[in-house]
Amino acid sequence: MSESSLRPRFERGLAAPICLTWELTYACNLACIHCLSSSGRRDPRELTTLEATSLIDEIADMQIFYVNIGGGEPMIRRDFFDLVEHCVARRVGVKFSTNGTRLDRAAARRLAATNYLDVQVSLDGADVATNDQVRGVGSYDAARRAMDNLAGENFGPFKISVVVTRENVAQLDQFASLALHYGAQLRLTRLRPSGRGADVWHELRPTLEQGRWLYRWLLDRPEVLTGDSFFHLSALGAPLEGLNLCGAGRVVCLIDPVGDVYACPFVIHEQFLAGNVRESGFSTVWRDSELFRSLRQPGSAGACASCGSFDACRGGCMAAKFFTGLERTDPDPECVFGHGEAAMAALAPVALSLRPVPAPTHSRRVAVALPAPRERRGTLR
Ligand code: SF4
Ligand code: SF4
Repeated sequence: MSESSLRPRFERGLAAPICLTWELTYACNLACIHCLSSSGRRDPRELTTLEATSLIDEIADMQIFYVNIGGGEPMIRRDFFDLVEHCVARRVGVKFSTNGTRLDRAAARRLAATNYLDVQVSLDGADVATNDQVRGVGSYDAARRAMDNLAGENFGPFKISVVVTRENVAQLDQFASLALHYGAQLRLTRLRPSGRGADVWHELRPTLEQGRWLYRWLLDRPEVLTGDSFFHLSALGAPLEGLNLCGAGRVVCLIDPVGDVYACPFVIHEQFLAGNVRESGFSTVWRDSELFRSLRQPGSAGACASCGSFDACRGGCMAAKFFTGLERTDPDPECVFGHGEAAMAALAPVALSLRPVPAPTHSRRVAVALPAPRERRGTLR
């Protein structure tokens, strides 16, 4: 069955999410300026090991095949390996995202010895200057050391995960070379105005021209993973790889560190809070929450109704619209035909102060200094 023929089913929602993200902690030793979950400080209400283990059991019982583990920095949790290994024991695959700072040789060895496990190391610049401007001083070297450690322990094809920005879009070929160097896979994601990303989105989001260039670059490289991030670009012609739909509350959702369930990782806001796993269990929230039920209803095409590309782009990303003050029926703020720019410009100035603010924030005021980089041999810079 083709992806497009499956789309109507996915739009009505499934018995379990296909793409479940679980942020294990809001604690993070970096302070990336675009962090979608405004991470930094641990939330004292974080799920305990026992609660997290029961949640894994429930995920396994729901026959969810894998979970995307993120944070914050998930490796900061002392029970990180216990939880990962419990997932794997229950045959729930794990894809986890890390800034790499805790991924030393011993951790790489342990990860390499674990089945059903995929690692994504975040890197937002192909050189120190571009990356560290976004992710903090020392973060490029830390990510590269983590990659060296994974390669040194023969982990296999891990992922290099890049948030595409105005500053790094011209470096995509360099990222692809880096991935080739490590035998890794390149994964690109879209910068959304979520979390601290809201503060930098206007300056860092790719220009419309860069978006068109990115579209052609991706079309030529179907092997590059995108997690369906860029489906708004499919309005330019042939569809990009993926489902090309907003899966929020239908096939996608987020469980945050305190057990709150949101419609997607990019809408951590009370308007998209469906419930809490502590109160009713995850499956009940997924199945019965009023919010998810409403997201599974057919939506109106709204301002996009007359657009010949609506079938390709479906009006774009709900999160990007929400945090830029647009309605769900407005065009995506990065609509390739500029209709989102026009819609944002048309917002009444008085409405500016009323635009939704991402919440909660766990940002720290001061970033923790990373250890000085050690020398590496035989690797690309
Ligand atoms: S809101 Fe945006 S990021 Fe979230 S599932 Fe929909 S399209 Fe994807
Ligand atoms: S007008 Fe709407 S449907 Fe058309 S390309 Fe823009 S966001 Fe997509």
